[in-house]
Amino acid sequence: MNVLQRSCVPCSVGQTRRGRLMGTRKRPLPVVERGSCVACGTCQSVCPRGAISVRRGLYAVVDPARCVGCGMCSRECPAEIIRMEVCT
Ligand code: SF4
Ligand code: SF4
Repeated sequence: MNVLQRSCVPCSVGQTRRGRLMGTRKRPLPVVERGSCVACGTCQSVCPRGAISVRRGLYAVVDPARCVGCGMCSRECPAEIIRMEVCT
């Protein structure tokens, strides 16, 4: 089991109103290379949903329940250590 699988939440993306799976949309989520994070807080500043924050002043952590997969954190990270991965 990888990090993305552990952080999976039932976001309902890809479901009809009656709960049927459409199976066509997949939401990308950011994955942070924690060991390379310099805790600069840029990702936290640019996130429109408050879905990523620097924990204990050490590294950034994503809240998948809030994240909408816009990719802003990934684009703005000065260390280029946030990659967007599709949740499967
Ligand atoms: S922008 Fe990048 S280096 Fe800065 S806190 Fe976020 S993940 Fe870490
Ligand atoms: S992908 Fe967008 S919503 Fe998700 S943590 Fe990054 S900036 Fe926030």
